Amino acid sequence: MAPMRGRMMDVPLTLVPLVERGVGLYGRQVVVTQRAEGPPRRATFAEVGARAHRLARALHDLGVGPGDRVGTMAWNTQEHLEAYLAVPCMGAVLHTVNVRLHPDQLAHVIADGGDRVLLCQRACLPALAAIADRLPTVERVVTFGEGEDAPGGAGHLDYEALLAASDRPLAWPDLDERQAAGLCHTSATTGDPKGVVYSHRSLYLHTLSLLATGFLPGGFSDADVVLPVVPMFHVNGWGLPHASVAVGAALVLPDRFLDPARLVGLLAGERVTLTAGVPSIWGPLLQRLDAEPTPLPGLRGILCGGAAAPPTLIEGFDRHGLTVIHAWGMTETSPLGTTVRVKHLLEPALDPAARLRVRASQGLPAIGFEVRVMDLATGELCPSDGRHQGELQVRAPWVCDGYLGREDREAFTADGWLRTGDVATLDPEGYLRLVDRTKDLVKSGGEWISSVALETLLMGHPQVDEAAVVGQPDPRWGERPVAFVVARPGAEGGLTPAALLEHLRPHVARYWLPDRILFVDAIPKTGVGKFDKRALRRRLAEGAAADTEPGAPQGSR
Ligand code: AMP
Repeated sequence: MAPMRGRMMDVPLTLVPLVERGVGLYGRQVVVTQRAEGPPRRATFAEVGARAHRLARALHDLGVGPGDRVGTMAWNTQEHLEAYLAVPCMGAVLHTVNVRLHPDQLAHVIADGGDRVLLCQRACLPALAAIADRLPTVERVVTFGEGEDAPGGAGHLDYEALLAASDRPLAWPDLDERQAAGLCHTSATTGDPKGVVYSHRSLYLHTLSLLATGFLPGGFSDADVVLPVVPMFHVNGWGLPHASVAVGAALVLPDRFLDPARLVGLLAGERVTLTAGVPSIWGPLLQRLDAEPTPLPGLRGILCGGAAAPPTLIEGFDRHGLTVIHAWGMTETSPLGTTVRVKHLLEPALDPAARLRVRASQGLPAIGFEVRVMDLATGELCPSDGRHQGELQVRAPWVCDGYLGREDREAFTADGWLRTGDVATLDPEGYLRLVDRTKDLVKSGGEWISSVALETLLMGHPQVDEAAVVGQPDPRWGERPVAFVVARPGAEGGLTPAALLEHLRPHVARYWLPDRILFVDAIPKTGVGKFDKRALRRRLAEGAAADTEPGAPQGSR
């Protein structure tokens, strides 16, 4: 017999009702944006909502239609939030472009997205100017924010002028829940960054899960003041803009001013209750609080993810009465996957050390998010004993099932799970712990560095025979790249780390430059002839390579 059908409305799960709810019910709630100088700018949800409809009209009049990509090059500002609301709700696709990328990658990402219009914060214009002649799909650039339009400002449209002229705000059309709403690129191990395409449905469900997981003591409500330090060009600003608008929480946007002094000022001045960012933001902020204690009485959660939160960081904030909440996610997972909650039933049994161990884990899956750990050698699931390591695989309605314009399926299992490239254990209570990474990438300050790309460039130097790049743990950045280099016979004396850094410099962003370049006689290989990166990392950990270091200058960001 056929299964009986439910008799429920099939209302599309789109961002429109979430946005309309927030703007309609919480019109007096505020969006605060940090300025270069002086007090922050303030606008109400009602104003931001009205401006989003005007922006949609302006984009429509520029020819943006359903499915067209609108790129943003911007930090966390009110205008970026307006684009977050307007672009998907008008049926177009918001493509948040990572402005920290090297110009070659930036040009690739914008062309790969096929962006027709770019909304560019004036502070990001130098990055845009560097690729001005490499934007084949871009028809219009609209600029906003403090600063001048030069360099390369000719022909740019002014955001405020467009909004002022759009006197018939665009109403949101009916949308299909499965249509694309957002696009964000993530680093590939080799080659150019690849695009993850979010649907309305995935963002809707991701938002609900973020609000529903109980990952914060006391929940997430209109009583909250949310400061996303995580840039809005990183994977939907971790979903905080959508969730804050939907639930009516105030949003405090730091723009590009992420130094600890300004962040502490904003956290204190706006009485922020919840903030979010990568560990390399929180380390310096903790140092600042240690040096200059500042009461942050309203702050009840510091969401920390994108890289492992060290236990010392968690303990350090504890000393100030502040709670770090560790989270794991990926661009491919929208990004919310897991957050740490200490299970109520576990609390009585945990001594302080055991409790810290739980809090430093990657946590428990969100509602609707499935995780499993696979032993790739046997093809069997690893037992949840906290010891067996395997590949972390995940599945949820907000996990991608492919990449923009790519047919390859390496990242997916035959039965439809995403292979994360992370190596993990699960303990009997279900806590996830990341122990390694199979993807050949280094994560520094929340941004990816491709080891393979660095190796290819290094091996392109005429005096280099072989080069392998691995990440070395770093207290400030999480990891920093270290290169092992075998010089060509006859070149040994002449080849210096400084020369190799100069060789790399034109091709990569500054933060990609290896901190150390170590000359070795040979690079260890695995049984199948690949660089044995585990052995290299072990060597770094043991400090054995230190004596071969030729005194490479420290790379800087
Ligand atoms: P991205 O797509 O740039 O957000 O990077 C996702 C990757 O960052 C994950 O697959 C992990 O390798 C790493 N990552 C994210 N969160 C954590 C965490 N809490 N602990 C350790 N690694 C993390």
